[in-house]
Amino acid sequence: MRQINHFIATGVDAGKPARTHKIWNPSTGEIQAEVGLGDSALLDRAVQAAKKVQPEWAATNPQRRARVMFKFKELIEANMQSLAELLSSEHGKVIDDAKGDVQRGLEVIEFACSIPQALKGEYTQGAGPGIDVYSMRQPLGVCAGITPFNFPAMIPMWMFGMAIAAGNAFILKPSERDPSVPIRLAELFVEAGAPEGLLQVIHGDKEMVDAILDHPEIPAISFVGSSDIAQYIYSRGTANAKRVQAFGGAKNHGIVMPDADLDQVVNDLAGAAFGSAGERCMALPVVVPVGEDTADRLREKLIPAINALRVGVSNDPDAHYGPVVTPEHKARVEEWITTAEDEGGEIVIDGRGFTLQGHENGFFVGPTLIDRVTPEMKSYQEEIFGPVLQIVRAKDFEDAVRLPSEHQYGNGVAIFTRNGHAAREFANRVNVGMVGINVPIPVPVSYHSFGGWKRSGFGDIDQYGMEGLRFWTKNKKVTQRWPDGGGDGSNAFVIPTMG
Ligand code: NAD
Repeated sequence: MRQINHFIATGVDAGKPARTHKIWNPSTGEIQAEVGLGDSALLDRAVQAAKKVQPEWAATNPQRRARVMFKFKELIEANMQSLAELLSSEHGKVIDDAKGDVQRGLEVIEFACSIPQALKGEYTQGAGPGIDVYSMRQPLGVCAGITPFNFPAMIPMWMFGMAIAAGNAFILKPSERDPSVPIRLAELFVEAGAPEGLLQVIHGDKEMVDAILDHPEIPAISFVGSSDIAQYIYSRGTANAKRVQAFGGAKNHGIVMPDADLDQVVNDLAGAAFGSAGERCMALPVVVPVGEDTADRLREKLIPAINALRVGVSNDPDAHYGPVVTPEHKARVEEWITTAEDEGGEIVIDGRGFTLQGHENGFFVGPTLIDRVTPEMKSYQEEIFGPVLQIVRAKDFEDAVRLPSEHQYGNGVAIFTRNGHAAREFANRVNVGMVGINVPIPVPVSYHSFGGWKRSGFGDIDQYGMEGLRFWTKNKKVTQRWPDGGGDGSNAFVIPTMG
């Protein structure tokens, strides 16, 4: 059995894992490897190793730090195919989509290459008589990231790319379900010239996460995963006086106005609802046609498009999407379809019990379309995270703004329309963090920032871009004067003003 090990600095004792976790090949249903889970003692050894290299890294000028990022970018590009194949074999997403996963992470590395520019502070000359004020962004120390299974390349790079470029060391605790790509990224990072110990990857589950949350020498934690755990991470981490950002689950809605180009919408929806088997936090699992007529026309076009989807093994170049990640996840998605049916949803296309010929043990779920879903239903309120599209019919525009605004999640939302006024009004009023206008998956580019609202995001700073940089640094403010010895006659007992 292939063993997946921690990636820690040379000389750090990896210890003996008390427990292991099995790694599936979701396309075949076979166990392909196992990963040893670490404990708090291992974490502490990794933190101590990181502390040895972090000060020197922080003192390395930002241009030199950027050069490591440039080299890392080159190495990822050179290894794109093998990274995508490795990713796809553990996650189940198709190869082209796996390349997208790597690419969207790489784009944050590209932004991190601009660290000398991005880190420049603010300066005011003559803020008072002979007084200048300036600010500088300084790294926090040894930071940590805890990531989900669904983007095993992108989300780790979103985190460590920004944190390390800013001068921190980083401990990554990736998902125990697909841990190989994060390890490979860390190997490439050392090959790019990063000192050993600056980026370490340690595997684990709740025990390791709790150790990270309680470790006194880790000042900042970024988390991405499901909402209940995100809230737990946020509460426990902040109770320990750490800086925490914790991003949670989602239930993104796509509003379809009566004037939308329905052929375009159907094409966009098919990819956004079923791509990656629906296992994306920015998937569009709820479509909200406005008015019964729009709903009927849309449904008529959706049915043949969904029936034409090809479900395949993850390295089938013609497949639209592959298996879900584990057998438990397949069972859970199918249970949600049954719940929706029991609640009165109309199962228009049923993906339960789907098997792929020749791969009968793979964790496949067929594409599913459920109509006449209403806000009272549990299957609407909760995240399904599978290839399931629900239709919620809205009476009018107001109803369409209200649905995503009142939902517990507020990650992303999209509106499809040809009416600029309606789109502008919607973007302005909807209570959701990321909005697409005729864009089904509005993940902002790397020099903006990413973050949902409500139960999709705990904490107040987004990921990557300048927001990410703020998260991974502390802002020092310096007020200086260089008196010439003559004294300025001011009363030192009165709070200084710039009078
Ligand atoms: P998950 O919450 O099960 O796991 C995420 C991380 O938390 C993993 O590293 C895991 O080891 C750890 N973990 C699991 N159980 C824990 C516990 N009880 N205590 C402490 N740590 C624990 O999430 P997942 O299934 O890997 O990923 C899918 C979820 O992530 C979905 O809800 C999806 O919407 C969400 N997600 C959100 C975003 C976003 O940016 N908002 C992006 C991607 C995924």
